[in-house]
Amino acid sequence: MPELPEVETVRTTLQTRLLGRVIERATIKRRDMLVVPGDPPGGFSRSARGAAPRFRRVRAADLLGGDRVDGVLRHGKQLAIVGASGRVLCVHLGMSGALLWRAPGKRLERADHVHAHWRLDDGSRLVFRDPRRFGGLWSFPGMDNLRLARWDALGPDALAVTSAQLGRALARSRRPVKAALLDQRAIAGVGNIYADEALFGSDIDPRRPAESLTRTETTRLARAIRGVLARAVRARGSTLRDYRDADGDPGAFQLAHSVYGRAGLPCHACGSPLASALVGQRTSVWCNACQA
Ligand SMILES: [Zn+2]
Repeated sequence: MPELPEVETVRTTLQTRLLGRVIERATIKRRDMLVVPGDPPGGFSRSARGAAPRFRRVRAADLLGGDRVDGVLRHGKQLAIVGASGRVLCVHLGMSGALLWRAPGKRLERADHVHAHWRLDDGSRLVFRDPRRFGGLWSFPGMDNLRLARWDALGPDALAVTSAQLGRALARSRRPVKAALLDQRAIAGVGNIYADEALFGSDIDPRRPAESLTRTETTRLARAIRGVLARAVRARGSTLRDYRDADGDPGAFQLAHSVYGRAGLPCHACGSPLASALVGQRTSVWCNACQA
C-alpha cells in the first residue's frame, strides 16, 4: 500500500511533469471511481457499487479537462491536482492505486485496470490505475470544498507533525500508541511500516497506552516520525509489492527498514531477536530490549 513517502514521491514527480501543462482531454472509464458534486452521498463507496447508484453525467471540466495545472498538493496520503480555474481533483491511491505519467509516445506496461486518463498539451499522458479499487477520485469546485469534505477530518500531516500536535493526538487515549498512530483522524499519513519504524527509532513499545507517553517520549516520537518519513521520501519510498512512482520507478527505502518485515531477526541496535504480534489489529514488529 502506498504510504506517505510514496505519495509524496508521486506528488513531486507530478509537480515537475504537470505544472503549467494544459489538460487537452480527460477520460473516465469507470464512473464509480469518481465522485463529483451532485452525485449521491457516498456514491463511490464499495457498498453502493452493487446497488447501481445514479451518478450525474461527467463533464470534461470535472476531471480538469481544458484546465491548466497550477499545482499538486498532498495531505496525509491524499493528493490534489489543482487547476488554474480553481477546480481540484483529489486522488486517493488506496491499496494498489497508481498515478502514472508517460512521456509522449511512451506506452504503459499495463493497460488493464485503468479507470481514468488525461492527455496533456505536450503529448504526454497521465493515467490512474487501481486493480483493487480501494482508491478513487473526487472532484471539487475549489480547495475550500476539498478541505471541508475530506482534509479537515484528517489530523496534521505526519511529515511536519510537531510534538505539541502529536501530544494532542495521543492524549486521553488508552489505545496502544501504535493504533493511535495509524488513526488518520489523529495524524495523517502514518501507515503500518513507518509506525513500527518510528516507534523503534524512539525506543517506545507499540503496545503502550497512547496516554501513558511522557512529554519527552512524545517529543522523541514526533522527531522519529518526521525523520523516518523524510528519509523514506529521500529514498523515493518503499517498494514492497507493486508500488511505483509516477515515472514507473520503484523506491529504495525497503532496504533501510529496521524492524518492519524483520520479525525474529536480530535487532540492529542490541542483537536480540525482534518480537512480533498483532497490535491494534495490525502486525507489529519491535525489540523488547530496546523499546520500553
Ligand atoms: Zn534491540
